[in-house]
Amino acid sequence: MGENGVFADIIAGDTFKYYSDGEWKVSASGKFVPIINPTNKKIQFKVQACTQEEVNKVMESAKSAQKLWAKTPLWKRAELLHKAAAILKDHKKPIADCLVKEIAKAAKDAATEVVRSGDLISYCAEEGVRVLGEGKFLMSDSFPGNERTKYCLTSKIPLGIVLAIPPFNYPVNLSVSKIAPALIAGNSLVLKPPTQGAVSALHMIHCFHLAGFPKGVISCVTGKGSEIGDFLTMHPGVNCISFTGGDTGIAISKKAGMIPLQMELGGKDACIILEDADLDLASSSIVKGGFSYSGQRCTAVKVVLVMESIADSLVKKVNEKLGKLTVGPPENDCDITPVVTESSANFIEGLVMDAKKKGATFCQEYKRKDNLIWPLLIDNVKPDMRIAWEEPFGPVLPVVRISKVEEGIHHCNASNFGLQGCIFTKDINKAILISDAMETGTVQINSAPARGPDHFPFQGLKDSGIGSQGVTNSINMMTKIKSTVINLPTPSYTMG
Ligand code: NAP
Repeated sequence: MGENGVFADIIAGDTFKYYSDGEWKVSASGKFVPIINPTNKKIQFKVQACTQEEVNKVMESAKSAQKLWAKTPLWKRAELLHKAAAILKDHKKPIADCLVKEIAKAAKDAATEVVRSGDLISYCAEEGVRVLGEGKFLMSDSFPGNERTKYCLTSKIPLGIVLAIPPFNYPVNLSVSKIAPALIAGNSLVLKPPTQGAVSALHMIHCFHLAGFPKGVISCVTGKGSEIGDFLTMHPGVNCISFTGGDTGIAISKKAGMIPLQMELGGKDACIILEDADLDLASSSIVKGGFSYSGQRCTAVKVVLVMESIADSLVKKVNEKLGKLTVGPPENDCDITPVVTESSANFIEGLVMDAKKKGATFCQEYKRKDNLIWPLLIDNVKPDMRIAWEEPFGPVLPVVRISKVEEGIHHCNASNFGLQGCIFTKDINKAILISDAMETGTVQINSAPARGPDHFPFQGLKDSGIGSQGVTNSINMMTKIKSTVINLPTPSYTMG
């Protein structure tokens, strides 16, 4: 498991180090957390199980570093971020190799994730110099009863320490989508990467180290979320939490203190297909949207709601396309690769068996070998089946046949989730009416749900989240408005 070249510093023996106060360190716990390769189920990597004491040290260093970092000119902060982005892109191969081994992401998609992340960092640096370089100037005489005796100047100030906790499915991209806005805004950043995905994230952090960020401005502690998660999220030093993941986020929201929270949680993205839809476009989008990275995407199509009169044709077209997907190891760039853990595979199987028992129509034979599950379309799904409501996070997609579009909207809105949804129709007027009726953070018209491009606003309603992401929204969320009011002894009006 030896690391070469620029990454030699981040490993000791066979265990990756954690990053604190600008240095790579071995935990005093003497314990490690194994990362199981989803494809061969062997231990692929080991990371440090950091202690509470080490978390305290990280917070102390992050706190003192932040004071100086906030005094660093904005253009210099942007320059360092651009440097980190370039280094990240230059090292896309070793980082992508880690993604292949620890989360079974197909090799090509893994490389794309790293490049997209570099672009996101650069975009954030550029956006930051504009968004943070502007404030407001208000005058008092617009409010009844006031003369023009007060000038109010507002600017955006950092919050302090931002704690970032991303999920396994985009451990690099969903880390930098929190790191870059936090840093450009003058915060320091503590990352707790997902266990599956931690080693890719540690490599990414090293790119920030190589770029020359001052010590303590960025840190990374590793360990199981179930063991150090509560200590981190309830730590008094933390001034903001940006979390992406599942229901864990709901629990964190209840425990965290009085600090801003950005939560991007699960989804059950509905795809409503009207009678006039282009079924070639709809079926390609369903296959791409539902089965890319084996369905392990928050914005995957997770339930198809199709008008009965066109359902047979749509299902036939989707099945033809599913038959062409390749299934196998991520190293071979297969479309469908093993899901992340054995427990995920067992959970997916539970949903599939429940649908079978309750009489759904299986369009393919259900096939599983270890963590590898073959793509499966389940037709004639009824509301009493778990798969109609729960998020499989795997290559399994339910189809619910509807007789009226209102049934589709009702199904979408009856979900606890409200991340994204999509509509296929050639009638833009109908599409707008349906979009407005859907209780989701985003609706895509004639395309599958998607998080990108990364500067678009991205938000979930209900159990899908708090706040909004996307480059500008994240920068704003990680700052607070500060006002300075100049009080004049006599009213002053600009000469006409
Ligand atoms: P998860 O189990 O909720 O884990 C997410 C992160 O939380 C991981 O880093 C995990 O660390 C950490 N964690 C676990 N317990 C914790 C605790 N008590 N306190 C603090 N942190 C804790 O989610 P996942 O399985 O990685 O990802 C799948 C879920 O994420 C799906 O529901 C998916 O829809 C959602 N997701 C949402 C979006 C979005 O933007 N809306 C994007 C992608 C994924 P460990 O790995 O060490 O347990």
